[in-house]
Amino acid sequence: MAKDAQYRRWIASTRWLRLRRSVLTAHPLCERCAQEGYVSAATEVHHIRPVEDGVTWSDRQTRMFAPSNLRALCHNCHVRTHVEMGRSGRTATRRRHDEQQAEIRRRFFGEGEREPPGGVFREGEGSLQASHPPS
Ligand SMILES: [Zn+2]
Ligand SMILES: [Zn+2]
Repeated sequence: MAKDAQYRRWIASTRWLRLRRSVLTAHPLCERCAQEGYVSAATEVHHIRPVEDGVTWSDRQTRMFAPSNLRALCHNCHVRTHVEMGRSGRTATRRRHDEQQAEIRRRFFGEGEREPPGGVFREGEGSLQASHPPS
């Protein structure tokens, strides 16, 4: 996953370090383990929608700092989540592309939310979407 210079600045910023600490304080236990009936200490904060896939700078900034885009995870769950996100890379890329296209249409043409054509979702690939915590 390419991490650009802006992302590296954000991840090292006081604003992020404070936010990260407050997320781990609010969610001391791994949220994914909790869903699966386990109890583990959360040590890492994951971005549900990848920051680097944001369409614009402000979209990336929102993804970086919006509490609704963050998830407190233990190290193992964080690794597992990223493995799953990287699985079947072409489909994942396609889905991201569709998401970006929808965002661009919304933003610049005022169109409403729309399902990507042709149903890019297949079984087993919806877990990240389904696991969005209520914001
Ligand atoms: Zn966990
Ligand atoms: Zn992550």
